Amino acid sequence: MRSRDGRELRSFSFEEEAPGQEVRAVERRVLLETLASRLPSNSISYLSRLRGLKKQGDGGTLLELDDGSKILAEIVIGCDGIRSPIAKWMGFSETKYVGHCAFRGLGHYPEGQPFKSKVNYIYGRGQRVGFVPVSPTNVYWFICFNSPSPGPRITDPSILKKEALNLIKGWPSELTDIIQNTPDDIIIKTPLVDRWLWPGFSPPASKGNVVVIGDAWHPMTPNLGQGACCALEDSVVLAGKLAGALSSGNEQMVERALREFGEERWGRVFPLTVRANFVGSLLQWKNPVVCGLRDNVMIPKLVRLGPFLEHTNFECELMESVVSS
Ligand SMILES: Cc1cc2nc3c(=O)[nH]c(=O)nc-3n(C[C@H](O)[C@H](O)[C@H](O)COP(=O)(O)OP(=O)(O)OC[C@H]3O[C@@H](n4cnc5c(N)ncnc54)[C@H](O)[C@@H]3O)c2cc1C
Repeated sequence: MRSRDGRELRSFSFEEEAPGQEVRAVERRVLLETLASRLPSNSISYLSRLRGLKKQGDGGTLLELDDGSKILAEIVIGCDGIRSPIAKWMGFSETKYVGHCAFRGLGHYPEGQPFKSKVNYIYGRGQRVGFVPVSPTNVYWFICFNSPSPGPRITDPSILKKEALNLIKGWPSELTDIIQNTPDDIIIKTPLVDRWLWPGFSPPASKGNVVVIGDAWHPMTPNLGQGACCALEDSVVLAGKLAGALSSGNEQMVERALREFGEERWGRVFPLTVRANFVGSLLQWKNPVVCGLRDNVMIPKLVRLGPFLEHTNFECELMESVVSS
């Protein structure tokens, strides 16, 4: 961890400060291809954009796709991200912008990237940057910056790159190097949003045989690095619940399994959503006095990493039946 002038604030290894913890940086493409490779061929239908869905009673739920085709589904698992039409149909509110945006990209070094295998954070005022090697040739990076509004949607990738480089003028030069080595079309800008699942106000995760998981259900800011992790946990827990219910062949058991999934997972994902939001507000501080305290007292002396990372410990009790099927 460094300040924007390059001064080291803290450096640690997990073995020393948080035994049992680790960071795994995985490219989204690699993760998705790996998961997809475990499915029977033709079980994924790509470019099938969902337009909306209609409850059909006993026969299932009717999905209407953008190309006009329709699918009658026995179970619908909505894992369609923060703008999920399924969550909308179930009555979830729009996500809320939290006041900061992120640029992300993958620096590409065809001859091999020059960085040590460690996570780097650099803190400024109202802005922070991170980078971590994800493969022998690729380095993932992000810039998180305050912005009163999400701003206009920019589609020209060269403008995105220019904006990202402008934000880190005067910061350690390796950042400029990584961004310069990022192909234009790999840079994205994302307004950061979340949705708090207040009990009594937010709908349950399932309605009949339709359930939402991942960002479609619990969009959270990335400040704890847990959004995708929670989406993966969701899928393991849901698979466990469904395995038993499906083998019973009873429709009501399926609906019950989906309800139980929502009840069990709420206690995990709601507190993480709130905590990620608070951590983001603290890390995006702009006030120079507060930033001085953060850099000189909090980060070097107060933060205890073991307890801070406790939330990443999640035991997936994967049932044998799920593994074998
Ligand atoms: C800056 C940033 C950094 C992050 N860093 C981390 C991190 O370090 N660790 C971590 O765990 N998480 C991180 N996250 C969060 C993570 O990216 C998300 O939580 C994760 O991608 C959620 O996965 P998902 O499958 O639920 O949704 P998504 O990844 O959004 O996937 C949704 C899918 O649904 C498809 N879809 C959308 N609409 C439709 C439609 N109408 N019809 C059909 N398909 C549709 C989309 O094409 C997409 O394939 C970060 C997020 C951001 C913004």
